[in-house]
Amino acid sequence: MTAPYHGGCQCGKIRYVVKGEPRTLYICHCSQCQKQTASAFAMSLTVRSDEFEVTQGLLKEWGRPADSGANVFCRFCSECGTRVVHGKDTRPEYINLKPGTLDDTRWLVPVAHIWTSRAQPWVEIGSHYLTYPEQPPDSADMWSRWQAEHTARLNAERRPI
Ligand SMILES: [Zn+2]
Ligand SMILES: [Zn+2]
Repeated sequence: MTAPYHGGCQCGKIRYVVKGEPRTLYICHCSQCQKQTASAFAMSLTVRSDEFEVTQGLLKEWGRPADSGANVFCRFCSECGTRVVHGKDTRPEYINLKPGTLDDTRWLVPVAHIWTSRAQPWVEIGSHYLTYPEQPPDSADMWSRWQAEHTARLNAERRPI
């Protein structure tokens, strides 16, 4: 799978396209993500804001303050409520796509688990993942790990049989 990547909400009113390769993919176990997903953890696919385009429908927005005080904007389908995108006002050039909304999710292999201190006790995290007990100090390692693994997958697909 290479860009563009297409996706949409559960009811189909929202459709979008991601026009470039993502920067990283991680799992977050924080209590906000557990609440938002109504589940045990969330996946976040970081993509450039200018490479994400809603091609059908209009996302509704709700905001909440992050621990740092920055506004976290949360965009979702007003019809079915599917969360599609999260982002921070302090980092407008990137957004976190909720990648379960992509049409093809088989290529999504996360590189990291964050906020593991809040993970549900039954969650087992393999030793090959990057792990952070809380918010990582920066994204450099998560970005370079994804870059290496995702590029290797793309190259393997391109290799003639
Ligand atoms: Zn919808
Ligand atoms: Zn979280």
